[in-house]
Amino acid sequence: EEEVAEYRKGLAIRVSGFDVPKPIKLFEECGFSTALMGAITKQGYEKPTTIQCQALPIVLSGRDVIGIAKTGSGKTAAFVLPMIVHIMDQPELGKGEGPIGVICAPTRELAHQIYLEAKKFAKPYGIRVGAVYGGVSKLDQFKELKAGCEVVVATPGRLIDLLKMKALTMLRATYLVLDEADRMFDLGFEPQIRSIVGQIRPDRQTLLFSATMPYKVERLAREILSDPVRVTVGEVG
Ligand code: ADP
Ligand code: MG
Repeated sequence: EEEVAEYRKGLAIRVSGFDVPKPIKLFEECGFSTALMGAITKQGYEKPTTIQCQALPIVLSGRDVIGIAKTGSGKTAAFVLPMIVHIMDQPELGKGEGPIGVICAPTRELAHQIYLEAKKFAKPYGIRVGAVYGGVSKLDQFKELKAGCEVVVATPGRLIDLLKMKALTMLRATYLVLDEADRMFDLGFEPQIRSIVGQIRPDRQTLLFSATMPYKVERLAREILSDPVRVTVGEVG
């Protein structure tokens, strides 16, 4: 196992894992299509943030990633952009199939922010993003999911409800993101997360993001990720 440490812009970057793809400095190095580059520019993103520089090439290579970085570091794009690429590489959804990408977040506010960002990048491709959290009528969500969504952004409780209602199945899910894992544990969602993960094929790509790594989150990560690369971006000192 190699461990790479470097310091940039007052940030300590630690990367550990086997055969880790090298970081990038520019979005142009990611091999994104013109449409995706256009969406990135439209968002006003000129250069990738520190966590994006490290995580994008690793996630794009198909590896599992544990990303540890504080709020505001740009984690969303680090998992949403490769998700778009992943989905475009998969066969189209048949009737009653989907989602391919599943993103879990602790609260409806956080889920909604991810939903908005995912929609912006998904739009040029006609990738449908479903919102599966409180504040939106469950019946509307049921209908939306039945019509087909390549991506769902969800809070764990509502996702479990809709899975029980058979609004969606996980048969096509191959890209799973657990965002703000520590907060999901603080809110008592560990059983729901385990249930959701248990319904997704084991050869999926799994990404876990967290601001902190308490023992319980570490234990879950060990159980559900395979040969992950760990990227930690923290303040120096
Ligand atoms: P985190 O999930 O780490 O808290 P977000 O993904 O929510 O961070 O990003 C924080 C803010 O930074 C958002 O407003 C987002 O639009 C912006 N942002 C993300 N990536 C970039 C980038 N490469 N360049 C400029 N702004 C960015
Ligand atoms: Mg975030």
